[in-house]
Parts: sequence; C-alpha cells; structure tokens
Amino acid sequence: MQIRVALPTDTADRYPVGDDTSCYGILAEVLIPGRGEPLKNGALVVKDSTIEWVGPQVELPSEYSPIRFSRVSVLMPGMWDAHTHFEGTGVAVGIRDSMKPFMPGTSTLIGAVLVDDMRRTLMAGFTSVRELGGYAGEVAPAIDMGRIVGPHVYSAMSLLSITGGHGDVQDVPLQTMADACATGSISSCVCDGVDGCIKAVRQQIRRGAKVIKICSTGGTLSLNDQPEDTQFSPEELRAIVQEAKRSSRVVAAHAHGKPGIMAALEAGVKSIEHGVYLDQEVAAKMKEKDAILVPTRHIVEGLAASDDDLDPRQRAKLERTVQLSRDSIKLAVKMGVKIALGTDTFNSVEDHPVAHGKNAMELRYAIEAGMTPLQAIEMATANPPETLGPQARQSGQLKAGFDADLIAISSNPLEDIEVLMDPDNITHVWKGGVLFKSP
Ligand SMILES: [Zn+2]
Repeated sequence: MQIRVALPTDTADRYPVGDDTSCYGILAEVLIPGRGEPLKNGALVVKDSTIEWVGPQVELPSEYSPIRFSRVSVLMPGMWDAHTHFEGTGVAVGIRDSMKPFMPGTSTLIGAVLVDDMRRTLMAGFTSVRELGGYAGEVAPAIDMGRIVGPHVYSAMSLLSITGGHGDVQDVPLQTMADACATGSISSCVCDGVDGCIKAVRQQIRRGAKVIKICSTGGTLSLNDQPEDTQFSPEELRAIVQEAKRSSRVVAAHAHGKPGIMAALEAGVKSIEHGVYLDQEVAAKMKEKDAILVPTRHIVEGLAASDDDLDPRQRAKLERTVQLSRDSIKLAVKMGVKIALGTDTFNSVEDHPVAHGKNAMELRYAIEAGMTPLQAIEMATANPPETLGPQARQSGQLKAGFDADLIAISSNPLEDIEVLMDPDNITHVWKGGVLFKSP
C-alpha cells in the first residue's frame, strides 16, 4: 500500500481538466452516505475541499461529463473517532510513569512519537478525531501545514478535573500538577471552585480547544478515586458549561457513576463518555437533553485483554466495569440514545490492543450491542461531528456542501462490518478533497 502525501499533480486518481485542477469525480458500486440508505452505482463530485454533488450515476449532470472519474468498490464518509488521546503512551511515556510527562522535553518526544500514530489513524480510514485530553491539539498545526500526515484534529487540549479527581496525577506533588496546568505542558488540568473552573475553561480555549472535556466522576486508571464517585459540584459543572457556551463550545463529560452522569446532564453537557452505569432513567434523560453517548467499549475490552502493568487498584476497577459497559451500550441502543464512535485509544505501541489505528474495533462492539451495520456506520460518520456542537464542520456525510473526507473500501461493510477493521481493506483515503492513500 503506497502512501501519497498529495499535491493534486501527484495523485493517480485526480485528473485536471482544462484549467480546472480542482474538480474530480468518484464512481462507486455502493455509496454509503453516512446517514440514510446506501445507493447502488453512485457518483460523487469533489470541488476543492468540498463535496459538490452526490447521486446515482445515471443522474449525473452533463456539466460534469468533462471531468475525470475514478472507480471504487464502496465509498463512504471518512470515519471519526470522537474520543482519543494522543500521548505517546508505551513509547514516550510508560503507562505508570507518572513523573515523566512533567519532565522538560517529554512533550517534544511525545510529539515525535505521535507522527506515526497520526499517520496510522488516517490510513485506517479515520479522517477526523476529537481528542479529549492529549497532545494532538499541539501537533495539529503540523498536519494542517502538510508537514506530517494525519486526520483533522478537534482537541479539548487539557482535560479538566477536580484536585484528587480522575484527571489529577495523584502521585506527584500537587504544586507540580498546578504548575503544569498553568503552562499547559501535560494533558490534564486540575481546577476547583467556580472561579477556578471558569479560568480553566478560558485557558483551554486560549490554547485552541474546540470542545471542553471534564471528569464528572472518578475513573479506572486514576489511583485513589472510584468510577462511582461524583466529581465537581453542580455549581462548578454549571459554570463550566456556561463559560464554554459563551465561546460556542460544548462540554464532554467523562462519567461512569449514575449521580455524576445525571449531574453532568443537568448542567447541560453535550456528550457522556463511557457511561457505564447508564440505566433507563439516564437513557431517558439523555434523549430529553439531546445528549450523545460515546461508549468507548474498545478501551474497556482492549485493556482487559492487555497485559499492561496496571496498579492492582486500576485492574480491580477495570474488572468491575467490563460487564457494566457491555450492558449500558445495549440498553442505549435499545432505547434509541444517539451514539457516536469513540474508542479512548491512547497507546503508541503498534501491536497493543488499543494502539492508534485500531479505532474501527468499536464497530464490532456496536454490532454486538444490537446495532445494524448501517446504524454502526452512522455512529462512525454522521453522529460524531455533533459531539462538537457549534464547532462542528459539515462533515461525516456524503452530501453536497460537506467536507470531502472520504474513504473507499474493498468490499461492502454493510455485509460484513469487520472489513473496516483491517486498514488494508481501506483502499483510498481522501481528506479535504486530497488523496492520501490509494492502492
Ligand atoms: Zn478518555
């Protein structure tokens, strides 16, 4: 498989016609629009970085007859992973190496390691990621400049946590943590009290955050808190959501325990991440509030299957949440809660179960939870941009006016969703209309 960091003249599938080098078409035996029914013998026209026309080949307007078309088997929107962390884990920083991220130079090392993670993510068919705490937001300008290859990045920059909460690195001196928050040199930030929370939101937006990430409950990989614990007071949660809203940002809440999920929903967050204690009441509240569930089944199953050197406290919490996470997504599917694909992928070791580039594994768990393949593809394409609220671009659907982020697949994922899980089956990747991968 050859990778092309493409200028238009470098690409085999992009043919200039006359003076117009920016317009080309794709003919697909099956065209899956992301939302809605698939189309047999579909056609799509790209102009610059945008989709200009989509429809049946027989209805292609005659004005497009001079442009050159390439042929693919199956065409669908580029996939989105709405919950990632690019932190160089396992290569630049060990999973239990809590002091290393604070050391001068580590963030530079992480950035270097991420070059390959970014490329693998895009080559796996993921043209966009929402990062909920990590370094991808810092690396993104290099992608946008064309210096490295990667997906579109929509980052929260540092995630927000209470002191002693899920995002606090609980075994380093508190002042070390506070100093790192102030400089933005690590991927999480502690804040307490309404004023502190407001300031932390403003700091992330100053750094370029497109979404605000908070932890409204404890978590699995933190040490001294529990997934069932509620974190942030209702006043703090409201202040965060309102402050984000003033800058047209929505809030994503890491939330396991029910009280912490309900408090986050009451405050007006847009997405619930993990949601392992989701029950009927939570599902009904999510629908009432138009909130989106990002179940991150992949990390739960992947970590449980890994031989990572976890602290016994981490391992015990993980074992406690595996079955809960299976049950909660099943219930959410049954009750019609809107679900977006998010994996919590964070590992930079290529053969690790949750290494970057294996994001499509989440689709398998969605099917196991009762989704149809078409629903699972909507979860991976049309739904995730909505987790960004007003910051969302028109993306994730094959529709006129939407970003030309497209992938072609060697066979039909509606017949076997597993084809999406092997990057070799992703024959083509276009991002912003530019071809990055072809056979
Ligand atoms: Zn996460």
